[in-house]
Amino acid sequence: MSSRDLKDLHASIRHLAEQFIAEANLALKQNNPSIEVRLICTWRAQAQQDELYAQGRTKPGKKVTWTKSSAHNTDLPETPHGDAEALDVGVFENGKYLQGNNARELGFYLSLGPIGERFGFVWGGRWKTPDYPHYERKNWRTER
Ligand SMILES: [Zn+2]
Repeated sequence: MSSRDLKDLHASIRHLAEQFIAEANLALKQNNPSIEVRLICTWRAQAQQDELYAQGRTKPGKKVTWTKSSAHNTDLPETPHGDAEALDVGVFENGKYLQGNNARELGFYLSLGPIGERFGFVWGGRWKTPDYPHYERKNWRTER
């Protein structure tokens, strides 16, 4: 189970996430009217995270996550009141999800990163194993 609803985000980032998506749409649509930026995940159940973690390890497929304790999960000790600390932002073209698998598609994701960072999010695109659609609240593990 998972959600793509803003209301499932930690209260301190709900409004920032909304503004980020709005600004991301303005930025991309300027030159690409068929492009749309949407929230694709906020909250994700631990069972689903464990499934994702198994992919490419104990189950077939390509690795899609490096962690069992994601900021999307809400049943960790760090997320006691059940609010997701992360959001995944997808880029769509004429309604079709773009994976970011070629230079053009990746370019859209790369242009969104700095916009998300302006709203204070940590962007997964800067990680050693990049997660381009992923944004999370700074210091979510240690600061409530
Ligand atoms: Zn994510």
